[in-house]
Amino acid sequence: HIHTLNQSAGALEATLALLKPDILANPAFVDSIINDIQNSGMKIALRKQVFWTQGQAEQFYAEHRRRFFFDRLVKYMTSGPVEAIALSGPNVISWWRQKMGATRPAQMRMTNPTCLRARYGLTDTRNSFHGSDSVESAKRELVFVFGQPAYKQIIL
Ligand code: UDP
Repeated sequence: HIHTLNQSAGALEATLALLKPDILANPAFVDSIINDIQNSGMKIALRKQVFWTQGQAEQFYAEHRRRFFFDRLVKYMTSGPVEAIALSGPNVISWWRQKMGATRPAQMRMTNPTCLRARYGLTDTRNSFHGSDSVESAKRELVFVFGQPAYKQIIL
């Protein structure tokens, strides 16, 4: 029966959510966002605060290394600690991306004002949140942050 329920609700997935440095600087915001997630029915499988070196941030965002915003992005992501959260649940990858909204906070304030980036995001770079965009990137990013053994526990 549990199997049938999970199938109708969507595939069980895991994703990496990051609360970027500007949000971590405001503990009240963090508490409110964590509460929202916990009330949603999605599961926080693991949580860890990380403070990336320049090299780690460059590796995490390697696919963007030729983009105009890359240096700015790396500088932002190394400006303070980041809260890394492994989420699991049915269709959690798209669930979290919808909750965040799209990349640009100013655009979101016009089109999707209730999403997290509309409410908290500052600029196109300092947009406060990250979410994996596919099963493959979720795996790569979760292993990057939490390691392979922890990843295997999350997806069990
Ligand atoms: N970014 C930026 N300027 C842009 C686009 C993206 O600074 O014009 C930053 C922003 O912090 C974004 C990250 O680079 O979250 C990764 O970009 P991506 O296109 O993967 O957006 P996301 O999937 O995070 O919405």
